[in-house]
Amino acid sequence: MRILATIKVMKPVLAKRLESLEESATLALNARVKQMVAAGETIYNLTAGELDGDTPAYIQQAVAKTLHLNKYTPVPGMPALREAIARHASDFYDVPFSPAQAVVTAGAKPALGAAFLALLNPGDEVIVPTPAWVSYNHLIELAGGRVVEVPLTDRWDLDVRAIAKAITPRTRAIIVNSPHNPTGAVFTSASQRELAKLLTGRPITVIADDIYNKLVFTRSFQPITKLGFKPDQLVIINGWSKSQALTGWRIGYVLAHPDVAAAITALLSHFTGNAAVPSQQAALTALAAGDVPGKLETLRHRRDLVAQGLKRIPKLNFVTPGGAFYFMIDLRTVTSDSAAWCEQLLTKYHVALVPGEAFSAPGFARLSFAADDATLQSAISAIAQAVTKKD
Ligand code: PMP
Ligand code: GLU
Repeated sequence: MRILATIKVMKPVLAKRLESLEESATLALNARVKQMVAAGETIYNLTAGELDGDTPAYIQQAVAKTLHLNKYTPVPGMPALREAIARHASDFYDVPFSPAQAVVTAGAKPALGAAFLALLNPGDEVIVPTPAWVSYNHLIELAGGRVVEVPLTDRWDLDVRAIAKAITPRTRAIIVNSPHNPTGAVFTSASQRELAKLLTGRPITVIADDIYNKLVFTRSFQPITKLGFKPDQLVIINGWSKSQALTGWRIGYVLAHPDVAAAITALLSHFTGNAAVPSQQAALTALAAGDVPGKLETLRHRRDLVAQGLKRIPKLNFVTPGGAFYFMIDLRTVTSDSAAWCEQLLTKYHVALVPGEAFSAPGFARLSFAADDATLQSAISAIAQAVTKKD
């Protein structure tokens, strides 16, 4: 004991670039709730940005046969996988993509991070429509960029007039994420066409985060390439975390101009190297089967269940999502402090939602409907109680 007491504990000095970095609020909250559940509490956990259920059986079976493969693959991915991505994307987007444009990454997050590192010089601005998924701002700032937040409209569509006003000579990129996290919105074709027009001839890259583009419930969804954007202007981010429920397998990709793809490859060659081989095999298997999500009809049913339930709760407002698996609930008639309200909802009513603060949207809370019917129904009853409570 005495020896320990004499050791002077030095506080580690962290790099300045990490000073304003916080852990992903969604992942941190999900981990906290899982710990509460492990400790024996009953919590209706609607924080998760991941589908419930196991790895799809067809992927388990196919990957099990390849476990002897243990060697590095090329950094941007196995040639067969890059070819399959290019073929699938050419079909989906109706624009030719070559394998040289595809870089396979360990999830969509490194694809985004590498894209920002490849594109941004210090002080370059990136327009981030808000509410926005938690990681964009941190990844942009880590790459030396400056975040310029521009709110979506009340109906969660791109506000192209506001975007036009936010453009400066330093604007280097804009994020378009449709279907959108955290609102589940599918942006209208009209607003995206208007944005494409606004960006024509400007050196602004559209970072199209298409990770939810297989989880769509509305016919109005159109792939971004069909809305007037020039293919060279796009950097497309995607992966299999959401379409195939493979969040833990860490497998995604970026599609970009071959020069950008080569720059990202050089970057990743020093950072992660190739994505894990079994995960690449899983992606190859998914693409060979058309990358069809297994749960779309279940998700649509759950969306409708939640919409009906929330409609019956006085004071709560929401826009029914057209894709992904999130509702953004407007709490502004219920509380002036959504973070505190969500904390109380968790500790007193045992329902976990993500407060809007995590998405630059105070006054709201995100509900993930990637949960079974019974959990959703119990959670909605508890939310109704919390909203109408007298205390
Ligand atoms: N973009 C969005 C909008 C997301 O919701 C997520 C979910 N984590 C990601 C990117 C990152 O996906 P991944 O888990 O494949 O890194
Ligand atoms: N994208 C998911 C979410 O928004 C997963 C968590 C994360 O990656 O931050 O909850």
